[in-house]
Amino acid sequence: MQYQKLCEVYEELEKNPSRLKKTEILAEFLKSIKNEKHHEIVYLLQGRVWPDYEEKEFGISTQLTIKALARATGKQEEEIVKKWKKLGDIGEVAAEISKTKSQHTLFSTKLTTYKVLENLQALPGLVGKGTIDKKIGLIAELLSCSSHIEAKYITRTLMNDLRVGVGSGTLRDAIVWACFDKEDKEAFQKVQSAYDKVTDFALVFNKAIKGKHELDKIELSPGQPLKVMLAPKAESIKDAFERAGNEKGEIAIEYKYDGFRMLINKDEKGEIKIFTRRLDEVTKQFPDVVKYIREHIKADTFIIDSEAVGYNKKTKRYTSFQHISQRIKRKYDIAKLAEELPIEINVFDILYYNGKSMIQEPFEKRTALIHKIIKNNKFHIQTAHQLITSDEKKAEEFYKQALKDGQEGIMIKKLESPYQPGTRVGNWLKFKPVANELDLVIVGAEYGTGKRAGWLSSFDVACSDEDGKFLDIGKVSTGVKEKSEEGTSYEELTQILKPLITSETGKKVKIKPKIVITVDFQEIQGSPSYNSGFALRFPRFTALRTDRSVHDIATIDEVKKLHNKEVLKRTY
Ligand code: ATP
Repeated sequence: MQYQKLCEVYEELEKNPSRLKKTEILAEFLKSIKNEKHHEIVYLLQGRVWPDYEEKEFGISTQLTIKALARATGKQEEEIVKKWKKLGDIGEVAAEISKTKSQHTLFSTKLTTYKVLENLQALPGLVGKGTIDKKIGLIAELLSCSSHIEAKYITRTLMNDLRVGVGSGTLRDAIVWACFDKEDKEAFQKVQSAYDKVTDFALVFNKAIKGKHELDKIELSPGQPLKVMLAPKAESIKDAFERAGNEKGEIAIEYKYDGFRMLINKDEKGEIKIFTRRLDEVTKQFPDVVKYIREHIKADTFIIDSEAVGYNKKTKRYTSFQHISQRIKRKYDIAKLAEELPIEINVFDILYYNGKSMIQEPFEKRTALIHKIIKNNKFHIQTAHQLITSDEKKAEEFYKQALKDGQEGIMIKKLESPYQPGTRVGNWLKFKPVANELDLVIVGAEYGTGKRAGWLSSFDVACSDEDGKFLDIGKVSTGVKEKSEEGTSYEELTQILKPLITSETGKKVKIKPKIVITVDFQEIQGSPSYNSGFALRFPRFTALRTDRSVHDIATIDEVKKLHNKEVLKRTY
């Protein structure tokens, strides 16, 4: 398919902010590509070239894109930088200068989506000497035969900043509209459930074209990351019993460990793979966990769900997520760090066991299975601390003990419930002391002055709407440290954020939304200054969430709920 045709769809999507209209546009497009040989085009609709679980990165900065543009168009780099400073959006710059290309493109072939995918997919594989030049070459090859709108979207795709507003929800709906009846509720559920198991929209579309029975055939497979199940909040322990109790009034309660999620897989070849909640593979960073798994779990194949929690080697007290977070991204001295910052794996679910999916089995049965196959070994690996009860007092005591033991609170689970990947449907609930904090994504920043000169020192943070659009909600600076010994520092954040800068005006920069942080605050106020309609009062940075992606940040609904609660509290 001609890439130009896809770009026309992008333009239409960009022009139409309404979600319904976007769904219609996408559904029409999907209908038109049903007979294409490759459905990887579906990735391009969200500005990606791989399935969602794939963690590969293009590794392309704005500077490199400018070099590629210069090579493709024959323009001077300085001229392009000047335009970039003026327009702010590198995509618009690419479009503008492509209109007046000085190099001849008369003989160039029309760009196909296949060619765009091929060149962009090749970028991460380039390593070693001459990598930069080869990368520029691949991009320049595309840009030199692209029309101005093609140049705009190639550049934006490279910057992970497509700006056409296609979230996962819209794409899912469009697949249903393109393949089934718009009113077919079962189809929505089947498409979503298939996606949650494989996190690959191209594959889901491919199956949906063939019918619901093909969607049903999509199954879990060890080694293939899936979306984990999540939990809404319970208002109180009483509320938890009311919402999750079975006929006998019983619920399962577990410690809510303060660590990070680990989905641990063992496939038929005996290979172990560990994924975080944002589907990053972290097996290499956790040789200790691989060892515990091999020694303490008796099964040929499995997918288990667990929380990795840090503890102090000397005092044996559990520590917070912040303390062990550096283990997730560490690339060197891994064994030494594992020694310094040990973790314990607390297993709380099993999704696949010896060749069979377990997710339709009741939670009670899945728990019994993990107890059967895991040999508990404190401070290495164990099954999550659990109580099954119908007694509110006992539940209250268990909750207090969890807090005393340094954990966040409790998880409440329905005994008869299945595991539903990717959902927050209430089969699980969480309960913890009230905290005013949100996970938000950094979308902009400002360079500091004085002793913070050269560092980004104030960070614009955003929540998202249900379709993944980012909505500003405040600026954070407090809580970030001057010195790295004291915690996450301005210098560290600057280093992480600099390659993600998409535009600069004076001291202000716009940043590709990628880095998630936890922010606490005193209250949420209504505010016309931010496009979310809300502002955080006294926001303070508390943690860099290397285990979270933009899909995990607070939604505008959560913000509204917190705000309403505060208003209510003040009224009564
Ligand atoms: P919060 O921000 O309140 O910590 P969250 O954003 O981490 O919540 P939720 O789905 O709201 O995510 O809460 C569930 C999380 O709690 C899981 O993702 C998991 O990482 C963690 N957790 C700790 N202990 C357990 C447990 N026993 N069972 C399930 N999840 C657990």
